[in-house]
Amino acid sequence: MGKIISIANQKGGVGKTTTAVNLSACLAHLGKKVLIVDIDPQGNATSGIGIEKGDIDECVYDVLVEDLNPKEVICSSAIERLDVIPSTIQLSGAEIELVPTISREVRLKRALAPISEEYDFIFIDCPPSLGLLTINSLTASDSVLIPVQCEYYALEGLSQLLNTVRLVQKHLNTDLAIEGVLLTMLDARTNLGIQVIEEVKKYFREKVFETIIPRNVRLGEAPSHGKPIITYDSKSRGAEVYLDLAKEVIASGERVR
Ligand code: ADP
Ligand code: MG
Repeated sequence: MGKIISIANQKGGVGKTTTAVNLSACLAHLGKKVLIVDIDPQGNATSGIGIEKGDIDECVYDVLVEDLNPKEVICSSAIERLDVIPSTIQLSGAEIELVPTISREVRLKRALAPISEEYDFIFIDCPPSLGLLTINSLTASDSVLIPVQCEYYALEGLSQLLNTVRLVQKHLNTDLAIEGVLLTMLDARTNLGIQVIEEVKKYFREKVFETIIPRNVRLGEAPSHGKPIITYDSKSRGAEVYLDLAKEVIASGERVR
């Protein structure tokens, strides 16, 4: 059974999608079979991995709302061993359309169950909210990876997220674990970054990944070329750090099992 990991934080622009795309691609590069499930209606993970909007007939919306078999929606990417369940703007209606449906919180869990054994890792790129889509993701997952941007007020909003995690643990998925807190977009030239690292480590202790993602121009450029950093610029600092993170995720997965 593959490990299913939500990448969640209701703040936008903290590096969720960048992490979903690049961590997945690095794990595939290291020989793992990986699936990205894009559940953000913006579809940034879908386009960031190089899937063209025009090439998508059906998307994760059809799986969640129309009960379509996920196997019919999986696209292979240009990267070996890396598949994607794409999202389109159609998904923006799902948050409301799911409200009156039966078992609305467990739809993604049920959809992924029959395909999870085909992958070593499944990453779910969440939207910037704590609505039904994120709840579906947390309910379907073994663990949640929380990217936190190294900026002032980094911890702000995290108590809300942790509260949602606790509610899901209590009512929908008792096995949900915290995979780790990932510090992102560190600007090493400022003292602020160091202060934020200390603050986050004081709060989350051993749950903070050793790998810290710096601000890296190449990481910001890669999505507009529809490529993960490992193929866009394999020599960049961004590629190095996401490879380090992939190794950390593999090591922690092996510890748990
Ligand atoms: P989220 O999915 O949480 O909204 P993104 O991953 O889309 O956040 O990141 C927000 C923006 O910051 C994007 O334009 C992305 O390319 C850029 N970005 C993310 N991480 C880095 C980084 N480490 N260095 C430089 N730019 C980054
Ligand atoms: Mg995103």
